[in-house]
Amino acid sequence: CGIVGYVGTQTVKDILLKGLEKLEYRGYDSAGLAVIDENVNVIKEKGRIATLREKAEATDADGTIGIGHTRWATHGVPNITNAHPHQGNEKRFTLVHNGVIENYEELKTEFLSDVTLTSDTDTEIIVQMIEKFADAGATPEEAFRQVLSKLEGSYAIAMLDANDSDTIYVGKNKSPLLVGLADDANVVASDSMAMLHVTKTFVELMDEETVIVSREGVQIKKLDGTTVDREPFTAELDE
Ligand code: GLU
Repeated sequence: CGIVGYVGTQTVKDILLKGLEKLEYRGYDSAGLAVIDENVNVIKEKGRIATLREKAEATDADGTIGIGHTRWATHGVPNITNAHPHQGNEKRFTLVHNGVIENYEELKTEFLSDVTLTSDTDTEIIVQMIEKFADAGATPEEAFRQVLSKLEGSYAIAMLDANDSDTIYVGKNKSPLLVGLADDANVVASDSMAMLHVTKTFVELMDEETVIVSREGVQIKKLDGTTVDREPFTAELDE
């Protein structure tokens, strides 16, 4: 299972699919991606990345920001509905997640008793809660950190906001995730290998850190909002 994300100047579909193909070795049962152009386009498939590629290439989604995911199901059978990305009911936020949310039943009872869920995953509650917190007045960044602070378990997360085609919200705890830096783009990946076709410069993330990834730069913050400075490293690998 794995995550990729890209915000930059190039058309994103093929960049994401290449990334997911590089992550195939980690194992998966389904895969999906989301690309923002005039709309948020969500494309998902059970089974091979090649099948997802065919489906994605048949759509005209051609934005320059997007996220992708390979799923190894832990909650909910492998099918298209349970495949990521997941969205809140208003479809404002679109999110991918690797890992297991151990307290998702408790969170569902406490925060989402009035919300109809679409999937059987532990992941969907994250995006539904973020949408709810944003509806209640939080900025997307605040809602993202508030909800991640309540999660117990492991996660690598990347999220898009339909109202903002310049930002990927990223967070991690006990699951690997890196941010990559290029001149004309910034990226996200579970493994640097997945984004070597864009950059060799990466920044490591620690547990309970979030990153605001935009075209201009990346900003690492702890869950309490304090800023973190960290030097990038160069991946000693060939594509
Ligand atoms: N727990 C999530 C699910 O079952 C994510 C699984 C993964 O790491 O791919 O959908």
